[in-house]
Amino acid sequence: MVVIGAGAVGSATAIEALRAGLRVTVVEPGEPGGPHATSYGNAGWLSSHSVVPPALPGAWRKVPGWLADPLGPLALRWRYLPRATPWLLRYLASGWTEARVQRTADALRTLLADAPALHTRLAAEAGVPQLIEQRGLLHAYRSRAEFEGDALAWRVRQRTGVRWEEWSADELHRREPDLDARYTLGIFVPEAGHCRDPGTYVAALARHAQAGGAERRATRATGFRIEGGRLRAVLTEAGEIVCDSAAICAGARSGALAAAAGSAVPLESERGYHVVVEGAPVGPRTPVMVADGKLIAHWMDGGLRAAGQVEIGGLDAAPDWRRAEILHRHLQSMFPALAETAGATAVKHWLGHRPSMPDGLPCIGPSAASADIVLAFGHGHVGLCGSARTGRLAAQLLAGIAPEISLVPFAPKRFG
Ligand SMILES: Cc1cc2nc3c(=O)[nH]c(=O)nc-3n(C[C@H](O)[C@H](O)[C@H](O)COP(=O)(O)OP(=O)(O)OC[C@H]3O[C@@H](n4cnc5c(N)ncnc54)[C@H](O)[C@@H]3O)c2cc1C
Repeated sequence: MVVIGAGAVGSATAIEALRAGLRVTVVEPGEPGGPHATSYGNAGWLSSHSVVPPALPGAWRKVPGWLADPLGPLALRWRYLPRATPWLLRYLASGWTEARVQRTADALRTLLADAPALHTRLAAEAGVPQLIEQRGLLHAYRSRAEFEGDALAWRVRQRTGVRWEEWSADELHRREPDLDARYTLGIFVPEAGHCRDPGTYVAALARHAQAGGAERRATRATGFRIEGGRLRAVLTEAGEIVCDSAAICAGARSGALAAAAGSAVPLESERGYHVVVEGAPVGPRTPVMVADGKLIAHWMDGGLRAAGQVEIGGLDAAPDWRRAEILHRHLQSMFPALAETAGATAVKHWLGHRPSMPDGLPCIGPSAASADIVLAFGHGHVGLCGSARTGRLAAQLLAGIAPEISLVPFAPKRFG
């Protein structure tokens, strides 16, 4: 079989396909886990509780305010808007009612529930156990009213089995002494985990697949040769690779490949940014998301990383580093001592493309043109977390084993 793409999803798929007894070739033009891949620069959250899609009932009412706020979490490239509009409308529609959000959450929970444990096992196998930690994740709010504003999301999470602890202002600041005093309520989710360095982790998974026998082709896949519904070869810029099955794991760049396999699904990039402050003197004890800036701050091996922002502008537009600067300003306001030492620290910026479906669920399942080709992409905000289970599912489909969870909610054919 051929795995197209060696991000978190592709690398996990390659490992699981080898485990299922398949012969594996990985097609990936870049260095696995490098900065070109979204898996490199994300926030590292293995948030098994991140089951609520970004668009919730009433989101449309908040959008103008977010867009008008120069420090807001959402940006639109206006020239791209006509292209993105159908996707945006579906995105808002899928979160229109609590019942729809609950359906999405129930499905996502089956994919994510034991992600920290699955990643712990994968990292140990790949020789990098230190990169995965399961110490819980923290959401910080400025007030109970702000938390109540998120009540629907927490109610939906609770119904899927997510449990949390509430930390009072005293408790929050005892545990997070560097956090700004405006945060007075902590919601701590003990079951969740995090990755200390996603790029290094994915590189280790890819190396582990190679050590297990996967062959690596440093080229780009361009399409498929399908005859009578059976896959004969994957087409690449360096010629054909003869094979009888394939998985499309090319993240935000999977759309054209899926269309070539008969499944033209609505995949869009939700562009996101990170900033890393090297040598930061202060920061969180627990990876933390703040409700006001909608960003995640977390120590990585390279420094203190803040990741977030959603920018709708397609795959090809140049980065707008002002979005990363917004994250930096939020980070400094979360940890005021950072601003005082700003001159003594180096700051790095990064842009990545979340591969996002409008209904908040990835595509995992056979393509329309051939059951030999499995789509495994579209994980949006939770692709690192969901990669371990997705790799198992893709391998099970291609090895003819019954998938361990229902794939009905993730079927590519749900888009018609
Ligand atoms: C700012 C930000 C923060 C995030 N935070 C989190 C988080 O905390 N937790 C979480 O779970 N998720 C998070 N995400 C989302 C997560 O990073 C993505 O969902 C995930 O990395 C997607 O993984 P992937 O393997 O599908 O894609 P990628 O990592 O993009 O990998 C795709 C690979 O396919 C290759 N490729 C592309 N085209 C071709 C081709 N034609 N032929 C062969 N190879 C090809 C690429 O080179 C790339 O290596 C975040 C994303 C962003 C942007």
